[in-house]
Amino acid sequence: MKAVVFEKFGEAPTIQTVPDPKPAADGVVIKVEATGLCRSDWHGWMGHDDSITLPHVPGHELAGIVVAAGKQVTRWKAGERVTVPFAVGCGRCFECNSGNHQVCEHQTQPGFTGWGSFAEYVAIEHADTNLVRLPDEMEFATAASLGCRFVTSFRAIVDQGRVKPGEWVAVHGCGGVGLSAIMIASSMGANVIAIDLTDEKLDFAKKIGAVATINASKTPNVVKAVKQITNGGAHMSMDALGHPTTSFNSIANLRRRGRHVQVGLMLGEHARPQVPMDKVIAFELEILGSHGMQAYRYESMMDMIRNGKLKPELLVGKKISLDEAPAALVAMGGFEGIGIGVVTKF
Ligand SMILES: [Zn+2]
Ligand SMILES: [Zn+2]
Repeated sequence: MKAVVFEKFGEAPTIQTVPDPKPAADGVVIKVEATGLCRSDWHGWMGHDDSITLPHVPGHELAGIVVAAGKQVTRWKAGERVTVPFAVGCGRCFECNSGNHQVCEHQTQPGFTGWGSFAEYVAIEHADTNLVRLPDEMEFATAASLGCRFVTSFRAIVDQGRVKPGEWVAVHGCGGVGLSAIMIASSMGANVIAIDLTDEKLDFAKKIGAVATINASKTPNVVKAVKQITNGGAHMSMDALGHPTTSFNSIANLRRRGRHVQVGLMLGEHARPQVPMDKVIAFELEILGSHGMQAYRYESMMDMIRNGKLKPELLVGKKISLDEAPAALVAMGGFEGIGIGVVTKF
């Protein structure tokens, strides 16, 4: 099969012909029909993720068609249209048994712990636990765009952030994660403030539900601005970018008993950012993480998509071919365009 391969961290990936994957006894092989481009892939390529062994095929936001299933697989067969959470649970550990596959102790991640979906085919383990059936009307590109950023934001807003109608929600960073969070929080009846450095992204944030925006490049004190708009601070706030400044602001702009959810990755030199711990105690703030979402929780999200309350297709950005993916991956370290870029031609 054709795949995007890198042999050294930070060295340009190339298109190569590699052996087709075979399904594990409890796994499947999926013909990839769409796969999202994500900053996590860029981090992986740069060598920021120690679960990667070389040579490597990136890609973890995938949708496609099952082409082969192992003997132990009971729920899936060839021909079914599926997607999969980026954190693939083992289905047997304590966390999986308690329903928290997203933090499985033995999780695998396509594109990190094994070869991913920047390829014609990808192998996924523990298929019965992890595959998600796609609604017939959902395009593969939309389904791929859910895989990482949209589901992580859904969990961050709904399950971890516990956002209620009428609450103020601040979203720091309007990339794929941030825009997803804005759409989801707004659909739940929250008042969302979008924060970013570019007016272009903030204008788009307004179109998908933000009621207020802050351009951080023109606002000397973002925390103060959020407190003014919300009359005291956000109930829930999220760092969707993953940077010490946005993380700090997201905690500092909360009102008493507010909830901060960290979704943007903090890797390398950013792994141990400053936290206003004095405020965390005095205000009884909650600091939470969100790491993907369990396959069984997709159902509620899919229902909201089917009913038109959530429109993830609006967040699909540029569609490119696999041949264009190496250059697009390398470019992800810089400025991102609006929405989620997806490979749709293989
Ligand atoms: Zn597990
Ligand atoms: Zn991702």
